[in-house]
Amino acid sequence: MIDRARELVEKSVRPVVFTGAGMSRESGMRTFRGEDGLWKDFDPEKLSSIRGLVEDPGTVWEWYRMRFMKTEGVKPHRGYIALTALQSRKGSLPVVTQNVDGLHRESGQRDVLEIHGSMRSASCIRKCGFTRELDRELVQSLPPLCPECGAVLRPDIVLFGEPLPHELISRAYSLAEECDLMIVVGTSVQVWPAAGVPFTAIENGAYIIEINPDPSELSGSDRVISIRGKAGEVLPLLMEKLQENL
Ligand code: NAD
Ligand code: ZN
Repeated sequence: MIDRARELVEKSVRPVVFTGAGMSRESGMRTFRGEDGLWKDFDPEKLSSIRGLVEDPGTVWEWYRMRFMKTEGVKPHRGYIALTALQSRKGSLPVVTQNVDGLHRESGQRDVLEIHGSMRSASCIRKCGFTRELDRELVQSLPPLCPECGAVLRPDIVLFGEPLPHELISRAYSLAEECDLMIVVGTSVQVWPAAGVPFTAIENGAYIIEINPDPSELSGSDRVISIRGKAGEVLPLLMEKLQENL
């Protein structure tokens, strides 16, 4: 499988990467579904919606503070480093991610499309234009308020019921239509419309390399090469194989 994957990466002229929460699992970030899923302990409708934020900003921000504390000090693992090297090698390798932890950018990758936003910044819920870094200082006294207009701040992630940033998702779909290979890492492909990105790639004739310890709805199709393993192990191995073949 890994050799077939190496061959596809080598031949590809328009590759794209698509990642989900499993990409960051080995950096210590929890996934939302599955064994240790975050949603098991919390009510997503309340904690991740504009309504929840307006009705009970204190409680909702407690949860964001907890999520922020978990991301503080989290570093990209070997799989991220390998992906950065792969991007340099291929020249162009856009990365479409559902993750909000900022680890793709932190590992030096360029052309990263954070289609679900980022936990690294916060802005005014009233859209007055105020925005700032989401750091330790911001979560010291909750809820954080906009210094310009006094409304509550929100993390710059896509909340339940909100549309995805239009420009980003439409570029992600265009990339899916045009690519010849999509490397899909650590996603259960259950969250729409993000999940449509790899399915669109398949419909348009691209190959998929799926890196995930568990099967997903993508697995099984004849254009999908599934490598059952962890991002932090498979991506470095794939990179090694490519280097052997220089
Ligand atoms: P998901 O939680 O639904 O699925 C995670 C997938 O990762 C599963 O298929 C699992 O088998 C796989 N996985 C687990 N460990 C892995 C590893 N070491 N290597 C490779 N794969 C592994 O995640 P999703 O599909 O991204 O959808 C959940 C949503 O939650 C996304 O929209 C995302 O925005 C959000 N989220 C983000 C983060 C983050 O930013 N780190 C964390 C949790 C959830
Ligand atoms: Zn404001």
